[in-house]
Amino acid sequence: MAEPASPATIWVRVALDVPLAGLFDYRAGVPVAVGQRVIAPFGRREMVGIVVETPDVPALAPEQVKSVIRVLDDLPPLPADWLKLAAFAADYYQRPLGEVMLPALPGPLRKPAAYQGKRAAGGPVARLDARAARKAQPRKGKKKTPESEYTLSSYGSEAEGIVPPPSTPPDAVAPARPRLNAAQQAAVDALAALTGFKPVLLHGVTGSGKTEVYLRAAERVLQQGRQVMLLVPEINLTPQLEQVFRRRLEAIAGPGGVAVLHSGLADGERLEAWLRAVRGQARVLLGTRLSLFTPLPDLGLIVVDEEHDPSYKQQEGLRYSARDLAIWRARDRGVPVVLGSATPSLESWHHAQSGRYLLLDLPQRALAAEPPRIRLLDTRNQPLKQGLAPQLLKAVAQRLEQGEQSLIFLNRRGYAPVLHCDACGWLSGCIRCSAYMVLHREPPRAPGALGRHELRCHHCGWQHRVPAACPDCGNQDLQPMGRGTQRLEEHLGELFPGARIARIDADSTRRKGSAQALFARMHAGEIDILVGTQMVAKGHDFQNLGFVGVLNADAMLFSHDFRAPERLFAQLMQVAGRAGRAGTPAEVYIQTGYPEQPLYQALIRHDYAGFARHALKERQSAGLPPFAYQALLTAEARELAQAQEFLAHARDLAERPHPADGNGLSQLAEVSRITLYDPVPLRVVRVANVERAQLLVESDSRPALQGFLRAWVAALHGLASASRVRWHLEVDPLEI
Ligand code: ADP
Ligand code: ZN
Ligand code: ZN
Repeated sequence: MAEPASPATIWVRVALDVPLAGLFDYRAGVPVAVGQRVIAPFGRREMVGIVVETPDVPALAPEQVKSVIRVLDDLPPLPADWLKLAAFAADYYQRPLGEVMLPALPGPLRKPAAYQGKRAAGGPVARLDARAARKAQPRKGKKKTPESEYTLSSYGSEAEGIVPPPSTPPDAVAPARPRLNAAQQAAVDALAALTGFKPVLLHGVTGSGKTEVYLRAAERVLQQGRQVMLLVPEINLTPQLEQVFRRRLEAIAGPGGVAVLHSGLADGERLEAWLRAVRGQARVLLGTRLSLFTPLPDLGLIVVDEEHDPSYKQQEGLRYSARDLAIWRARDRGVPVVLGSATPSLESWHHAQSGRYLLLDLPQRALAAEPPRIRLLDTRNQPLKQGLAPQLLKAVAQRLEQGEQSLIFLNRRGYAPVLHCDACGWLSGCIRCSAYMVLHREPPRAPGALGRHELRCHHCGWQHRVPAACPDCGNQDLQPMGRGTQRLEEHLGELFPGARIARIDADSTRRKGSAQALFARMHAGEIDILVGTQMVAKGHDFQNLGFVGVLNADAMLFSHDFRAPERLFAQLMQVAGRAGRAGTPAEVYIQTGYPEQPLYQALIRHDYAGFARHALKERQSAGLPPFAYQALLTAEARELAQAQEFLAHARDLAERPHPADGNGLSQLAEVSRITLYDPVPLRVVRVANVERAQLLVESDSRPALQGFLRAWVAALHGLASASRVRWHLEVDPLEI
């Protein structure tokens, strides 16, 4: 309902979570600060938005400007550095600002419904605070909990007075800290000497004690009264990690001084942890990539553990890299950022070699355990038993006899990747995707019962009963082809009837808590042979694990993706690192048809640096990242032709002079050394009846690419609205 502007009208420019470029102007009845949230009408909906400007005059004629419905004041305005981070991410990844900002907030803070209705009780923050206050009420004779000394209505910013970290408890209750070895001490000293922004690459083999270095650095920063952000790829799978950080850092930060954030939390839990971090009550924020966007008033250090891990990259919506944004944020805040890994990304390694990052090395394992011996089993000229080499089986048998555990790593879940008809050649294709449906065969729940058979598409989720006969020729003898973890588990059961065998993959761990239960059984020695996908590669050290067998690694060696070898090397080093931490010399066997490949040769020498040197040389001569910068435009449509046509138009826009748009795009593409490749179909073209194609853009200059993308994306919005194609742009894509 528009009213004429009066001298007292306050205009606000608001970011909304809508897929439209630009910001939206409203009028507000009361003074509003930048960073405050409002509930505003948008079309027929109401949405929570964030005020990013308070312009003197609106972008539209005043009578067309609607009023906000409500100004939310349950939180202080989002801080300036947070707004700046969001603005940078929006610009860098070419997304509307609102689509960056709003999803970065905990759910309840961006839902109008959370503030409306009889039971809103002042909104989610007020409700949470009221509940905390009730809990803190001194009940008969009980002392107040320490929480009640915090101010609940402020971020704990300097203006409001820093929340002092509770004093360190007496040594008697402080958790034990191991004595640092020389390399760790050198790393800790080097970190202590840093005064402002500096990216540090902490390269340490698995088990070298990187965690201890993070902890010492964090302790120091906490003692200075500042906050620490610790990013990890995955928390759900490794509860011990959370325990270690809590135990050690709460000794300084106080009880409740460590907040944990990850996608597995319920909305309310996430809001609670977020608020504690934002208000400065939590001094440590431990979390997965989404934590990167948490405002931290006293940020003093960022740590990114396993910095090479692909899970730092979000694959939908804002396709950001939390590691890369962590570096930007550290620079903006003038604080050090530590990237840790046994197998750094080639980007980070390259920066460390060139001196842009400080390189700190932990060359030895912290505990006296020998590194595992890695051996290659040449599969070219030997008989495999259900895909398993005789030496591998012998090693498992031997460890069984010695009472040690084995791990067989196969990165392919399901029973068999495809079901096949011998008579006519039929294969179990998905009707909705250009991919095969995977045979899944659960073991029987009760002895004597039949296990469930099913075909599942891993791309679209489609599920189907296994046909009783070939749909093409009627042959009733359909055969599984190849093997996945379920089939491997079954074979191993036949080969080692006395052994206790278990499997950890996405299927066996679907129920909440089941992954933890399986890991706990493995730690407790209740499993002799563990079959697992990459899920087992992360984070867990198995004390009694003496042998690791790796199957089907070659599949990644010759992948179409230029980053596949880098990922394979990291994965294999990581899997190998699960073993032999307890003292018995562990062995790792890798089955391969290409033992002479430089990747495998570097692996058996545990030679990351050698691998990286070779891989970087290849990247350089091919003009690939980190020697070039890329962006990937993906188009989706009912028909591949439509998607490709859209991409061809998009390319024309950039390359040919366009009389219609005088925005100088063509010139830009030329001048700034932008290469646009031909549009190509994705390897799996059709998923859920949508066909996809992509176009790669490359440049040897990041600013040039950024400048080009800015202009190009603006033009693409116009192009897309004219066609029925969905598109998205990914900057610094991980997979091509
Ligand atoms: P990384 O993270 O580098 O793989 P961890 O931090 O997990 O290695 O350390 C491996 C093991 O060594 C852990 O059990 C840890 O407690 C232990 N550890 C680390 N530093 C020391 C040290 N200085 N002295 C004794 N044990 C240590
Ligand atoms: Zn057939
Ligand atoms: Zn499918």
